[in-house]
Amino acid sequence: MSEVTADLYSSLHRRFKGDLLLPHDDAYEDARGIWNGLAARTPGLIARCSDVSDVQNAVRTASEIGILTAVRCGGHSLAGFSTCDGGMVIDLSRMRRVMVDADARRAQIAGGCLLGSVDTATQKAGLVFPSGVVSHTGASGLILGGGTGWLTRRFGLSCDNVEGFTLVTADSSVVRANSTENMDLFWALRGGGGNFGVVTEFEVKLHPLTSVVLAEGLASEVNIRPLLRRWREVMCDAPHDLKWNINLRIAPRTKNVPRELRGRTVASTSLIWTGDSDAGRPHLERALSACNPETVSTKILPFLTLQTMADSDFPHGRRYYTKSGYFTFLDDDTIEQMVEAVATIPSPETQIELAYLGGAAAQVAADETAFGDRSAPFVITLLANWSDASADGDNISWVRVLFNKLRPAMKPGVYVNFMSGDEQDRVPEAYQERWDRMVEVKSRWDPNNLFRLNQNIPPRKPVASTL
Ligand SMILES: Cc1cc2nc3c(=O)[nH]c(=O)nc-3n(C[C@H](O)[C@H](O)[C@H](O)COP(=O)(O)OP(=O)(O)OC[C@H]3O[C@@H](n4cnc5c(N)ncnc54)[C@H](O)[C@@H]3O)c2cc1C
Repeated sequence: MSEVTADLYSSLHRRFKGDLLLPHDDAYEDARGIWNGLAARTPGLIARCSDVSDVQNAVRTASEIGILTAVRCGGHSLAGFSTCDGGMVIDLSRMRRVMVDADARRAQIAGGCLLGSVDTATQKAGLVFPSGVVSHTGASGLILGGGTGWLTRRFGLSCDNVEGFTLVTADSSVVRANSTENMDLFWALRGGGGNFGVVTEFEVKLHPLTSVVLAEGLASEVNIRPLLRRWREVMCDAPHDLKWNINLRIAPRTKNVPRELRGRTVASTSLIWTGDSDAGRPHLERALSACNPETVSTKILPFLTLQTMADSDFPHGRRYYTKSGYFTFLDDDTIEQMVEAVATIPSPETQIELAYLGGAAAQVAADETAFGDRSAPFVITLLANWSDASADGDNISWVRVLFNKLRPAMKPGVYVNFMSGDEQDRVPEAYQERWDRMVEVKSRWDPNNLFRLNQNIPPRKPVASTL
């Protein structure tokens, strides 16, 4: 054990009620794991907090000792920010309470919740909180960065549905941020990620919804270009009830894929309709008409089934690398470059993910939250997904090369939750004209940058005293 870890342990262990896990402890190896195997690290100590006072103790001690500190909710940071080598992980996985007030359509979500725990609790009251598409993702990291998913167009981003935060700030105080208290923090926490403290509770708005219509299909390579052109036209004035995502990929060699498509470039298209199913039918039929008829299906799905249907596509421990950006318009050259690039994908699990925001998310003004500008609705995410460490170079390079080709047509900006760990130079791009305000808030609440394992906003350096 290093000297600094020994100091940390001895300062913490008498008053800490949760688990303090050291590398020789039986539970350490499991607790060490995060979702992205590419970013695996070996922390000196994992402080698994049982309540807010444990979080305060961990933050106070980290600050006094000056140890590198990561904060973990679901461990799904694509960049691997929720772990570190040698330092401390503040692990919130024991803090997973969700309290629902069905009459008020409100919930309190504890800082360690996964999306699945939120969905299960809210659905008992026939309500939803708009979040992401994989139930084993952590709610905290997702909400603090923004939070997009199947319901974004209908109800807005996750952060748009937060009415209040309770957090432990760098000086270990418990602070509330909402529309009347600490308004600077309230603004910055809606999109600013983990820069400002450890959020122990979110107060959120809920909406009534228990099922959706799901329509899916696969388009063969010759149909991808017309499909994407239709998508870009349809979505610009589509009803908020419609969410339409398209993934470009190599079709898996599985029984449910027609023989002639297996191993070939395809567009996998998924649509969700959240309104009256009869009203949705023409939109779904039109969208699916470019797909191979054998692959097309439409069904009504319980909300919880929708929220877990992609869980097994993104298993823990594989290696992932990503780059993302926005387009105001998807031009024909961009479409061509993407379709051509699929043929060179090094791993069959890798995808080019295309989503269209707009809807309720676009009705929030750019300066209202730190998340910012929502005017470029096309979101592209290149997500490489492979298992063998010896293939790291090929997979990472495929993403970088394609991203550089597509970059000139993109609108500057990036969603912080879809960034990798090597993109610190793009953090100002994520916040653009909001950057100075973010630095201001960071400098006030975390002047020594204790919370720096994130898409980091460095605080201003203190002005040297002239006395
Ligand atoms: C399989 C998968 C599916 C995804 N799907 C979506 C999606 O549909 N929509 C979407 O918007 N994003 C999605 N993402 C991206 C996701 O939003 C981010 O990876 C997010 O950081 C995950 O949150 P987490 O709590 O699991 O992260 P963690 O790895 O636990 O934490 C990431 C960072 O968040 C901060 N953080 C976490 N908890 C707290 C807290 N309580 N207080 C303060 N800071 C905290 C810390 O800075 C930490 O480093 C997905 C990611 C994965 C891996």
